[in-house]
Amino acid sequence: MNHKYASDCHNHSHCSPDGDHSVSAMLARARELGLYAWTLTDHCECQKFESRYRDRVRRAWEEMAGVEAAGLRFCRGIELGQPLEDLAAAREALGGRDYDFVIGSLHNLRDKPDFYYMDAANMDPEELHGLLDAYWDEILNMIAWGGFDSLGHLTYPLRYIQGEHGVPVDMSRHAGKLDQVFQALVQAGKALEVNTSGLRQKLGEAMPNLSLLKRYHELGGRLVTLGSDAHCAEDLGRGIDEGMELLKAAGFTEFAIYEKRRPVMLPLE
Ligand SMILES: [Zn+2]
Ligand SMILES: [Zn+2]
Repeated sequence: MNHKYASDCHNHSHCSPDGDHSVSAMLARARELGLYAWTLTDHCECQKFESRYRDRVRRAWEEMAGVEAAGLRFCRGIELGQPLEDLAAAREALGGRDYDFVIGSLHNLRDKPDFYYMDAANMDPEELHGLLDAYWDEILNMIAWGGFDSLGHLTYPLRYIQGEHGVPVDMSRHAGKLDQVFQALVQAGKALEVNTSGLRQKLGEAMPNLSLLKRYHELGGRLVTLGSDAHCAEDLGRGIDEGMELLKAAGFTEFAIYEKRRPVMLPLE
């Protein structure tokens, strides 16, 4: 890594259904990279907690408890997907476990499949804008709920609409809603994640991108976290150096890692 404090606070092990590698393999990679801090954040898709995630979350917690992290700052995290779809599940996932860090994510709208499955190339542009409007509204509801530390991969639908399907979206139409999201984060004291997975995927930019990071900063946003969203050991730490440079370009001087659900500010060095 090119930065002294390079830290990856969003990534997945085999405790996630779509993760490839064991916790120990991820740990070995974190050490090899020389990360300043590594936070593992396996998935808990709240609306599927009963059917698929209760045991996974338990197993992830047990495996994290067994990590021998000598010499590396290791933090225990979780990515809560769609917490508002099943608040009892979100409570149970967090209950009795002293996580360091909780990401709040939205992978699908209520009763709709993950944006991953969306056929954006064959959708009416107005329908796409409507989906994005519904996405911002649900994000605002999540911030009002507030049971997380950092908002994961804001603009996630663009990974599929623009990235996978090559359908351009006029984001100027969404500027007002995005301002509301940023203002709500600032007021609630929640962080915004810079998810660097988009840099290595077809989208070609971070989620959110530089212009949105600038806007968040203009509106008073200072809490930011960084994550590669790696689902395999090779992707751990990828894009974190670039993400730190993006933050500097957007006006930030610091970023945060979380320990015991509290931000620890680190310089962008
Ligand atoms: Zn996610
Ligand atoms: Zn993730």
